[in-house]
Amino acid sequence: MKSYSMKDFKSSQIHPAIIEYLAGIEITKPTEIQAKTIPILLNHEGDFVGRSATGTGKTFAFGAPLLSRVDTQKGTVQAVVLVPTRELCEQVGKELAALGAGIDGLNIEAIYGGVALKTQIQGLSNGVHVVVATPGRLMDLVNRKVIDLSALKFVVFDEADEMLLKGFSTDIDQILATSNRSYSSWLFSATMPSEVNTIIKKYLNKSLERILLGPKNATNEGITHQIVELTAEEKQNVLLHFLTRFGDQKGLIFCRTKSGVQKLYKQLSAAKFSSAALHGDLPQGLRNKVMEQFREGHINILIATDVAARGVDIDDIAFVIQYHLPDTKEAYTHRSGRTSRAGKTGTNITFVFPEEKEKLEELKAIMKVEFEHLPVPGIKDQLLNNAILWGRKIAAAKPVHDKLTDEEKQAFKNELNHMSKDEILEKLLANHLREIQD
Ligand code: AMP
Repeated sequence: MKSYSMKDFKSSQIHPAIIEYLAGIEITKPTEIQAKTIPILLNHEGDFVGRSATGTGKTFAFGAPLLSRVDTQKGTVQAVVLVPTRELCEQVGKELAALGAGIDGLNIEAIYGGVALKTQIQGLSNGVHVVVATPGRLMDLVNRKVIDLSALKFVVFDEADEMLLKGFSTDIDQILATSNRSYSSWLFSATMPSEVNTIIKKYLNKSLERILLGPKNATNEGITHQIVELTAEEKQNVLLHFLTRFGDQKGLIFCRTKSGVQKLYKQLSAAKFSSAALHGDLPQGLRNKVMEQFREGHINILIATDVAARGVDIDDIAFVIQYHLPDTKEAYTHRSGRTSRAGKTGTNITFVFPEEKEKLEELKAIMKVEFEHLPVPGIKDQLLNNAILWGRKIAAAKPVHDKLTDEEKQAFKNELNHMSKDEILEKLLANHLREIQD
C-alpha cells in the first residue's frame, strides 16, 4: 500500500464529530505517527504494526480511524482494545469515549479487573460497539457469555509488547479463539523487542502494514536523562534532596517492588511531601482514586511499581525518578516516557548502585541518548536539604491543645521570648544540625 502522510485532520475520512472534538481541544496538526497511520487505518482491510516514542499520540492514531469505522447501526461488539493495566484501561476508555462522544449512538465500555462484575455486565447490556479491556477480565466476560465477539472487526493491542510478552498470551489466545479470524489486528507500542516478531508472525498475517518511527527503543526527545551513582545508605537523603529541588512540580518515582513503594511512601509522608502509593496489592477503588488525585494535581508525587509505567498519560509530569534501575531497556523507555509528553520537556533521574555499573553500561549502549552523570549531593547540600525539610515539618505542625494548657505553654515561650525571631530561628537551626550530625 502506498503510504501517504496527512497534513491535517480535515483532509481525511475521519468522522466529522471526531475532527470537531479534536479542534475543540486545539488539536489540529497530526503528530508523525498519526499523520502516517490514520490514512492507512481508515481503509486497510488487514493487520498493522505501529511504533513511535512514548507520548506521541498513539491513542488518537488508532482511536480516530477505529471509531470512524464502527457501524453504529449494528448492535454488536466490533472492536476490542486490549491494554495491559487497569489504569491504562480506565484512561484509554475515557479518551476514546471523549473522542467519539459526538458520534450518534456509539457505545464504548471499559472493563477491567478489581471492580464489581455486576456493574460492568450492566454497562455491556445495551449494544456496545467498542470494548476497552484488560485481557483477564475480558476473557472472564467472554466465558460467561456476556460479551459476544463473533462479529469482531478490529483488535487493537495497545502497549503490544507488554500485552503479548508478559503472561497475557494465554488469555489473548483464548479471547481470539472465540471470535472468527476475519478481524484485523493493530499493534501499537513505543518498544518492540525482537521476541515480538515471533508473536507478530503468529497473530498478524493478513496484508501486514508497518509504520515504525525512530529507533527501536526511542525515548521521547524532550527528556533530559540523568544518572546518580550512589550507595544504599545515601539513597533516601539524595532522593529527598532532589524532591526538594523539584519543589511543587509533579513527579513519578518508580520502585522495583510493592513493599519498596510502601516503604518509600511512608518516608515521604513523614517528610511532609504530598505523595501517594500505587501498586497491584491496593484495592482497585483506591488505585483509581490515587490516579485521579494525581491527575488533578491534588498529589504532587506518585510512588509506583511498573503498573504505572505503561501508557499512563498525565499532563505536566515534570520528573521521573527511577529509584531502582529497571530490569529491561523497554522498562526504562516506558518509565521515563511518563514525562515530556506531547512535545513537552522533563527530567528522568535514575539511581544506580556501584554493583549495577555493568547493567548501566549495557543500558547506555542500547539507549543511544545522552546520559548526564550527576554527583551525589555533598554533605553540606544534604544538611541544608534536611534543615529545609525539618523547617517544612515545623510549619506543617498542628498546635497542641490537649497536651499542655496555655499557661504551661507560656512557661516554654518565656525561655525564648527575650530573643528576636531571627535569633530563635538561628538557634533552632543550630540545634537541629547538631542533633542530626551527632
Ligand atoms: P498518547 O501517546 O496517545 O498517550 O498521547 C500523548 C498526549 O498527546 C495526550 O495527552 C494527547 O492528548 C496528546 N496529543 C495527541 N495527539 C496530539 C496532537 N496531534 N497534537 C498535540 N497533542 C496531541
